[in-house]
Amino acid sequence: MIKMDEIGEIPQLIGNSIAFRDGDSFFLYSQNNKKVAKVSSWNKEVLDQLQKGGFFDALANQITQCGINKASNLMLLLGRDCYMACKYCSVNAGVSNKNMSVELADKAIGLYLDTSPAHPRITLFSGGEPTINASVIKHVVDKYKGVSWILTTSGVVSRLFLEWLIEKNVTIGFSLDGPPHIQNFLRPLRNGMPSSKIVENNIRAWRKKTGKHATVRTTITSDTILLIDEILDYFDKLDIGTVHLEMLSHIGRAASTDAKLILQPPTSQEWIAGVVKALNWGEKRGKRIKIGALNYFFNPQLSSYCGPMGGQTIVVNHEGFLTSCSEVVDETNGYWSVFMIGKINQVLKINKEDLGSQYWKYGKACENCFAKYICRGGCAHKNLIKTGNISEPDQQYCQFMKSIIPILIMRIFANK
Ligand code: SF4
Ligand code: SF4
Repeated sequence: MIKMDEIGEIPQLIGNSIAFRDGDSFFLYSQNNKKVAKVSSWNKEVLDQLQKGGFFDALANQITQCGINKASNLMLLLGRDCYMACKYCSVNAGVSNKNMSVELADKAIGLYLDTSPAHPRITLFSGGEPTINASVIKHVVDKYKGVSWILTTSGVVSRLFLEWLIEKNVTIGFSLDGPPHIQNFLRPLRNGMPSSKIVENNIRAWRKKTGKHATVRTTITSDTILLIDEILDYFDKLDIGTVHLEMLSHIGRAASTDAKLILQPPTSQEWIAGVVKALNWGEKRGKRIKIGALNYFFNPQLSSYCGPMGGQTIVVNHEGFLTSCSEVVDETNGYWSVFMIGKINQVLKINKEDLGSQYWKYGKACENCFAKYICRGGCAHKNLIKTGNISEPDQQYCQFMKSIIPILIMRIFANK
């Protein structure tokens, strides 16, 4: 029996639906149908109608378990070098200049394609700047046809190579933190010189040649959240189409004592207010706002937080090791032994056969949470750093998710 009158301001999960009270009204969000209902009083007729609309059914997609031999994506971490010296670099790029070899890239791609992925998708990423390993990128993109290629770059890349990537139809995402005074402070070149002009010019060139709107990935600190309007205005002038915002984390280079003195993440309240501002801006300007933690808002499932942890994405580092976290690139990360799950051999095989039971699901703290199908307990690496336990959620992230989801549900209702 569904006791609707017991629903309070703290959201709860009823079947697939998230339900909560806001003043005199109740909101219900069906995760199966992506529908929102606002109810002002309960009676049998209303309940019957909601039930017929599938509001209280169980979640449709209960679990995604791909496993390494059925992974949909491959990610190659092409090397450790970088032209930049970003103050918060999550992978501590530049610790070495080791690169992935052509032979290793061939081997990894060959093993991945042997698993017959329905739509082969390979991300060219790195523990540094992937375009530094241009010879491997050129080799694999020319050799393997019918693959969707995705590349994330700092934007400090030669114009000639950028044009080559565009010609080859490689999807590119740029990292850019905002107008010059922000970008040059947070993301200087290795030699200390500013990076802003180079990145801006490359984004303009990309826009002109592709005719598409660029995607930027922006890291937000406690200082830059206060400048979110200025950052978004700047992106508007650059004609950016998608802004992917992420909050700074004290990982990699940002975990050092010196970095912690000058770089802090925004508080949960600041982050929520900033995200809402960005959503308003996006709605008004017809732009897309992306927040990694909300990736699964429209694809709720009982699964792990990210592709590498769930086995949907195989991540191979520059030395042929498999890692279940793209932030944990090699042995320079203190948690390498936790996330390193094997090495490329004749077959794709993980050493940790218990990967599933250890990582598939969120932990106990999340079992009764209304957000569990969207949030999935958060990033394992960040949980480990913040709480010392993969399954124990980082409280700042947890608070953000619990606050933003009801806000999004009410926004969906307001926009119908
Ligand atoms: S954040 Fe990216 S661009 Fe900056 S130093 Fe690290 S790998 Fe290089
Ligand atoms: S991390 Fe927090 S919001 Fe996310 S599922 Fe766990 S308890 Fe819920």
